[in-house]
Amino acid sequence: MRKKLKVGFDLDGVILYNPVRIFRPIASSLKFIKPFLFHEKADTFYFPNSQAEKLFWKILHKTSFRVADGVADIKTLAEKGVIEPYIISARYSFLKNDFHYWINKLNNRPCFRYYHYNKDDMQPNAFKEKMIKELKLDVFVEDNWGVIQRLNSAVSKTKIFWVSNPLDWHIPYSYKFSCLKEAVRYLSKHS
Ligand SMILES: [Mg+2]
Repeated sequence: MRKKLKVGFDLDGVILYNPVRIFRPIASSLKFIKPFLFHEKADTFYFPNSQAEKLFWKILHKTSFRVADGVADIKTLAEKGVIEPYIISARYSFLKNDFHYWINKLNNRPCFRYYHYNKDDMQPNAFKEKMIKELKLDVFVEDNWGVIQRLNSAVSKTKIFWVSNPLDWHIPYSYKFSCLKEAVRYLSKHS
């Protein structure tokens, strides 16, 4: 029997569909929104400090407004014992309530027994790198190209899948998918 794959999924933009993320050109001119959509090349990621910034950050995360197509397929693969799914979100501590709201919603049919968010407010890519290594994931599914580049240089044993978007589609990448459903289909065929 094949080994059960340990697969981590990012939350915003992967498990939760977020249409805002495709508006890269607009956002690239707005320094504040930019790191939300595609993390900066610089080593430090934006962290909202003031109450007003935190409120705006929360509103931005409300744009992750529905569970993406493909989550039902993840549940099926988990039930068949093909994968063991994890949710690894780099959401900061002040987004805890919204994070748990979504976890409860996703787990109405228990599937994601393992889920982690960035409660210590680490740099998002550093947090994901730490979790991928700690959990020894075989695959991690991410939507943010900036994070993917960093993870690829930091973790060698884990395949990083990219749920891309129309505006970044021209970037060549081995594990590039147009949506979550397609990434999960690949997993079901290649596991
Ligand atoms: Mg994301």
